[in-house]
Amino acid sequence: MKNEKAIVVFSGGQDSTTCLFWALKQFKEVETVTFDYNQRHDDEIECAKAISEELGVKHHVLDMSLLNQLAPSALTRDDIEVKAGENGDLPSTFVPGRNLIFLSFAGILASQVNAKHIITGVCETDFSGYPDCRDAFVKSLNVSLNLSMDQQFVIHTPLMWLNKAETWKLADDLGALEFVRTKTLTCYNGIIGDGCGECPACELRLKGYEEFLQMREERA
Ligand SMILES: [Zn+2]
Repeated sequence: MKNEKAIVVFSGGQDSTTCLFWALKQFKEVETVTFDYNQRHDDEIECAKAISEELGVKHHVLDMSLLNQLAPSALTRDDIEVKAGENGDLPSTFVPGRNLIFLSFAGILASQVNAKHIITGVCETDFSGYPDCRDAFVKSLNVSLNLSMDQQFVIHTPLMWLNKAETWKLADDLGALEFVRTKTLTCYNGIIGDGCGECPACELRLKGYEEFLQMREERA
């Protein structure tokens, strides 16, 4: 794979930044793509841009504002509260069709820049209730993309079967633990690094981090 080119779907968060470090180890050439859908925080795009620059990676930003128009959610509307899904409902942060659209456009971009590989940080293990984070969906889209463009793309999901603690461990194994901890943006309130500590994304991130530290201690 070393000689090939890859596109990382990149939000500047913990997961996609870990994927970016992973991709930089696997492929000769890596570029990132961030989707602008007027998400709650423009900081996300700024953060993605800053990380790409720091790592010397070409960064694409694609305008996906139509997604905002079609799919109101807590990530796209300031007046919708961020809350976890209850009683089998999807969380208020779910944007229907988001990964379908993102991965499709990542595929179109990949064909433009002659990249064979597409990397996404979706994960089924810490399943937050998003159907488009499941392995079956990604595999099915991979087939559809290839059929639609007569290409041989490979979509990679290095985090698919990892829990949050294991994702921290992967960052550590890649020598990127401090980078990911201090420079990425996961927080729904737009605070880089350790975040606000109170939103569901921060809670999940911190819980995983503490489990990872414990895991590491037990191994030492
Ligand atoms: Zn937060």
